[in-house]
Amino acid sequence: MPSVKSSSSVWETDVQFLKGVGDKLAQIFAKAGVHTLWDLLLFLPRTYQDRRKMHSYAEMLTLASNDDFVIGLGVIERFSKKRAGPRGRQWKEALVRVLDPDVFAQGGTLPEPSPLDPRILFTWFRDPRDYAEKTFPEGSVVVFRGKAKAFRSNIQIVHPELQKSTSELPEWEFGNFVPVYREISTLSTRVIRKIMALALNRPEVSQIPDIFSEELMKKLELEGISKSIRELHFPKEWEPAQDASPSGKYLRRIAFEELFMMAIAMSMRKSEWINSSESMSRQLARLQIQDAAGELKSLKSSLPFALTGDQEKALNEVLSDLALDESPIPMHRLVQGDVGSGKTIIAFLSAIMMMKSGYQVAMMAPTEILANQHYQNFSKFFPEFAGQCMLLKGALTVKKKKEVRTAIAEGQCRFVIGTQALVTDSTLFDQLGLIIVDEQHRFGVKQRILMKEQSGAVIPHLLVMTATPIPRSLALTIYGDLNLSVIREKPAGRIPIETHLVKQRAHDKLVERLKKFLDEGRQLYLVYPLVEESEELDLKDVQSAHKEWSAAFGAANVGLLHGRMKSKEKDAVMQAFKQGELKVLVSTTVIEVGVDVPNASVIVVEHAERFGLSQLHQLRGRVGRGAQKSYCVLVGPDHPSPLSKERLDALVQSDDGFFIAEKDLEIRGPGEFLGRKQSGMPGFRVAHIIRDLELLEIARREAEKILEQDPKLVDPQNRLLKTMIERWWGGRMELTLGG
Ligand code: ADP
Ligand code: MG
Repeated sequence: MPSVKSSSSVWETDVQFLKGVGDKLAQIFAKAGVHTLWDLLLFLPRTYQDRRKMHSYAEMLTLASNDDFVIGLGVIERFSKKRAGPRGRQWKEALVRVLDPDVFAQGGTLPEPSPLDPRILFTWFRDPRDYAEKTFPEGSVVVFRGKAKAFRSNIQIVHPELQKSTSELPEWEFGNFVPVYREISTLSTRVIRKIMALALNRPEVSQIPDIFSEELMKKLELEGISKSIRELHFPKEWEPAQDASPSGKYLRRIAFEELFMMAIAMSMRKSEWINSSESMSRQLARLQIQDAAGELKSLKSSLPFALTGDQEKALNEVLSDLALDESPIPMHRLVQGDVGSGKTIIAFLSAIMMMKSGYQVAMMAPTEILANQHYQNFSKFFPEFAGQCMLLKGALTVKKKKEVRTAIAEGQCRFVIGTQALVTDSTLFDQLGLIIVDEQHRFGVKQRILMKEQSGAVIPHLLVMTATPIPRSLALTIYGDLNLSVIREKPAGRIPIETHLVKQRAHDKLVERLKKFLDEGRQLYLVYPLVEESEELDLKDVQSAHKEWSAAFGAANVGLLHGRMKSKEKDAVMQAFKQGELKVLVSTTVIEVGVDVPNASVIVVEHAERFGLSQLHQLRGRVGRGAQKSYCVLVGPDHPSPLSKERLDALVQSDDGFFIAEKDLEIRGPGEFLGRKQSGMPGFRVAHIIRDLELLEIARREAEKILEQDPKLVDPQNRLLKTMIERWWGGRMELTLGG
């Protein structure tokens, strides 16, 4: 295999130095994330135009009868200004003599014009500063392209694309399928096309090394990388009659490479984690209880409910990881279960089992509201362990925080619950045996290693819980270094939540209905997208809504909750709602994740069209947690766009988080789904994680095979792969897990 270390590879060539680019354009390219030649090559066309051949006048007539595009050669004979009536609309016309497309092939000189030659009209309704006329004065020979219309026994092309004709037309403009790119601010598709065509001729492009062996490429029917890239920009082998786009197999090649890189990187990360544990000369925490089964049984019997089958299964998987005798590897498990499936109790039971084995446990929640709630629930379910459990939260005084940290360092505190910032930030443990991360989107490698360093005398295990429903094989790849437990079943006796779409104009009726709900003794959530009134957005904000609802339902019944309130205030409001002193909670999405108030059985989401589908599903999961039938009301616009209607309908149709997530993905695209902007998820330029799931499976399998043979990629034949992985990996250390 060739080495990528050669002085100029596509990854090292800066776009700035490409023909036709320079400083200014490089800055524009940078806006689209195009910095290197490689980036440019992966800036793929939106679509293609068929410019393989120029049309004769006879062909144009046929095409014009279908309003189709034509390309031809002509001479501009005369411009004239037209006006419809004295005050009417103005336009400009050019009379064009159509030439035989083979005219140059026949010797290069133009035939003398004759009145019998076919002629067509170009029309401009706008021609700022007479651009067309000045650039293509009468007598110019032009190549034209545009949609041809039959017009008064003539052919008319409105706003044609024009180009001065010489006997040699650039191949990137004519004689091929030509690419159409997304414009990057002032960079037109035509300029990009030319830059791309010239770039494709550079020697680096023919020398892009294939990271796959010939054998593998053959087996998986993968095309070569250089050819794939060329074909994606200027398809030569495309037969539109057989294939809707030239992209199929060539896109597949690039998608496969991306998925493969991710699969390798994730597997290597797993071994990195293992190695970092081995290098610490500490013992791995281990579940060790005389009669573990008996202990567990008595713990469970104190609960007000029996665990579901899936909960039992997940719990067993966790406990057997924790008890493993031989394995030097800390547990690394993701428990995935839809909203309300009962993940918390698994965390609690695992925590107690570790506490009983002599270790400390840290549980991290995404918000203080949730940390609070976990603390309260734990104390309620397991009062005999409440004394060993402490809450570490922002609202505590500095002195109190210090006390808690001392209790953790000295070991009196066996179970600490807090937000991630509080627990990872300079909290030293005595014997940390288990880290539990609840619904965290940003618990990355760094945090993991940090916690491992602060864990005291032992190496801790990791348990991550998430409601984010990602397809299994995707989870395995992205979270490839985690084992996965899935909870599908919801606790028995749950009554399905009824979801309704309501239009803004039906709001008065809704208020009446909500009054009735309150009379029945129910508690309600009313959710708004904004904290404060906004000048740009015509949306109700949570604070003005709070005033209105207070007037409607009585100020004493209605609470307000949003992220800008102080911790103490939030606590007090949440507490009052939980106790049932407040009947109505007017809130932003701070309640989105995890909040559990079983008596609340109605949730109304205002401006529902503003929220993501998965977010709405999470919000809906705040209800349906008690014995009562629950309702979710989504208030949408009076005249929703078809897209917004499709989205909201998906929620009415289904309460399956997986279905909704896939719908969401379909509509929003994968990048956003994974929150890659916030979390630094690897951005795929070509691979589509749902569409390419099958390819992902193959990539995973092949990646594992290679790593099995050569775990650190030190083999000379894997050298290129290693360089590529390092390049891919660069800057992606912030990859998250859980989420
Ligand atoms: P999530 O998976 O969304 O974190 P929670 O752990 O908050 O869900 O559980 C939701 C609610 O269901 C809580 O009130 C919890 O006490 C209750 N719960 C959990 N497991 C069961 C069960 N097996 N039977 C009945 N209720 C349960
Ligand atoms: Mg939860």
